[in-house]
Amino acid sequence: MILGNINIIGNNEPVNIRVCNGKIADITPVSSKNKTGHLQLTFDDAITFPGLINSHDHLDFNLFPQLGNKKYHNYTEWGKHIHKTYKDEIAAVLKIPGLLRAEWGIYKNLLCGVTTVVNHGEKSGLKNELITVFEESQCLHSVHFEKNWKIKLNNPLKRDLPVNIHVGEGDDWLSFREIDHLIQYNLLKRKLIGVHGVSMSAMQAEKFEALVWCPESNYFLLDKTAPVDELAKHTKILFGTDSTLTGSWDIWEHLKLARKTKLLTDEELYAAMNQNAANTWQLNTGSINEGKDADLVVAKQPAGKKGLDAFFALTPADILLVIHKGEIRLFDQAMLPQLQPIELDNYSKVFITGACKYVKGDLPALIKMIKAYQPDVNFPADINELVPL
Ligand SMILES: [Zn+2]
Repeated sequence: MILGNINIIGNNEPVNIRVCNGKIADITPVSSKNKTGHLQLTFDDAITFPGLINSHDHLDFNLFPQLGNKKYHNYTEWGKHIHKTYKDEIAAVLKIPGLLRAEWGIYKNLLCGVTTVVNHGEKSGLKNELITVFEESQCLHSVHFEKNWKIKLNNPLKRDLPVNIHVGEGDDWLSFREIDHLIQYNLLKRKLIGVHGVSMSAMQAEKFEALVWCPESNYFLLDKTAPVDELAKHTKILFGTDSTLTGSWDIWEHLKLARKTKLLTDEELYAAMNQNAANTWQLNTGSINEGKDADLVVAKQPAGKKGLDAFFALTPADILLVIHKGEIRLFDQAMLPQLQPIELDNYSKVFITGACKYVKGDLPALIKMIKAYQPDVNFPADINELVPL
């Protein structure tokens, strides 16, 4: 497959990208003669960037509405409050089998151009080929909610796996101290990847391989976020959405909020979504270079914007194409004339704020199955499987 006449974010001249056997085979100037590929796609005013890496989500929690109605001091206070106040709402979603909920969690990510998601929690058991669900870390919930966390942390059989744990999700002493506890009991000096770190200090950050920043979730719960401007000097910053319990389904909204804080430069925030994450999770993706996995997103270039300004202005409706390991997982209706040679039977139609997308697999059937368990379930209002809005 060749993606022709396309602008890589950060480059000045459009290029042709050739994809072969799931990898980026070569990147050549538009003027050079194309090698033949099975499928040649040509674009006008389109940008491309590596498939996004969402470093924190709970795939099976993405049918919950946002739960919480005040500013909390830490995650334990929030957890206790929602289990008491929203008992019925929680029970209604839990009626839907976890595997179906997790399948929807995958589509939530794919529709936004995420090609790798780090799933926090028990192994999902999903047989999915749509995007990469990264589960090769040891997930501990948190110091306060994970039973026997000290024993699990110091399990010598797991010492080569990174530890993926919520830390410092609060603005109080308890949240600050739990980070010290975690560091103190990391006797095997395992790689720690913290999530949230709202109360994390620079000195604590030194002890972490990386921190996953989830600003939208933090503002919703705590009206405060991690001081990533400072922390970025001491550890790698990655980016995560967390689930819809605490934020929008749409990662682009999370990114716009993150950018508004001005805590990271545009380049740093961009790297949090790709290179920093790929390095931390040791994935052969996260940049557009020869030999990397062909995880690519192509989008319409927003009018009058270039480079990272164009990137951060995007919405899911602007996405023209999502490629994961060289396979087309999603495309916009506008691409249909060029995509006639591919087998369309394996795709289904969905409308995002009125824009028609084709996604791999049967998304309407999944939505139907989920609604059979729970007719009132909250799918995002801007996603519609039947008719254009
Ligand atoms: Zn989480």
